[in-house]
Amino acid sequence: MTLQIQGLHHVTAIASSPQANSDFFTRTLGLRRVKKTVNFDDPGTYHLYYGDEQGTPGSVMTYFPFRNIGQGRPGIGEVGETAFSVPKGTLAFWKDRLLAQNVQGLVETETFGEKRLRFLGPDGDGLALTEVDGDLRKSWTGRVAEAEAVRGFRGATLRLRDEGATGELLRFMGYDRIGTDDGVTRYGIQGNGADIVDIETLPGAEHAEQGAGSVHHIAFAVPDRAAQAEVRKALIDTGYQVTPPIDRDYFWAIYFRTPGGVLFEVATDEPGFDRDEPLAQLGQSLKLPTQHEHLRPRIEAHLSPIKD
Ligand code: ZN
Repeated sequence: MTLQIQGLHHVTAIASSPQANSDFFTRTLGLRRVKKTVNFDDPGTYHLYYGDEQGTPGSVMTYFPFRNIGQGRPGIGEVGETAFSVPKGTLAFWKDRLLAQNVQGLVETETFGEKRLRFLGPDGDGLALTEVDGDLRKSWTGRVAEAEAVRGFRGATLRLRDEGATGELLRFMGYDRIGTDDGVTRYGIQGNGADIVDIETLPGAEHAEQGAGSVHHIAFAVPDRAAQAEVRKALIDTGYQVTPPIDRDYFWAIYFRTPGGVLFEVATDEPGFDRDEPLAQLGQSLKLPTQHEHLRPRIEAHLSPIKD
């Protein structure tokens, strides 16, 4: 049986300031904020989603901005870097843009024949833009023109003590081991465009400590709940402990911890971000899940408004 994993669905990380986070992803990187809601398990905290026009799976970076949270400490057992795809020949544009906006930590590299501009987000988040030839996904062009705009994710880099069991898991999920370059092993899948998972091995490094700037979990895309149920059964049969499907309003999610310590999620492409507001207005007003709607006055009084 082939599992219907289609690349990444979203990456969820932790921020300190919701305003700085929203400004960075919308103004600096030019993504669209496609949902302003709350952490379903902690409704006093925002959950902000950024992506293309519709929040297409494979384009969606999400954040929990926790007030007063300390800075995360990079290490093993986490997603170390999240990379976005930009058109070939645009990194010079992006370097100028990021420098002009005082973005820190810019480093240009080249791995697996792709030019990459690494930089830090507002909380020290490990981010990158990668030039990809022929990425035909449609961009959101709110603040950056189509010729240069982010297409969605290219992929993510897991930082691990060793490749072993996590590499095996990725192959089980349908990824091919593409090769190794400069200490990084690349896995790829023919999916939605967010097709790459790199593993960087750091045998002597300490475990990451989660905080602002850390990735909380990484989600892989499946088309629907039937495909998700197949993945869940296959993982359980292999010995993984997997949560039951959880309704996240915009997708259904299952979660499991990988051997290398990274929290994986498998999320459905349906129903999508326009299920509770029109496409033209995505991300503007505060949307609450039904179970928290009765708390709206308290939640709104607690959350600081975000200026666009
Ligand atoms: Zn998630």
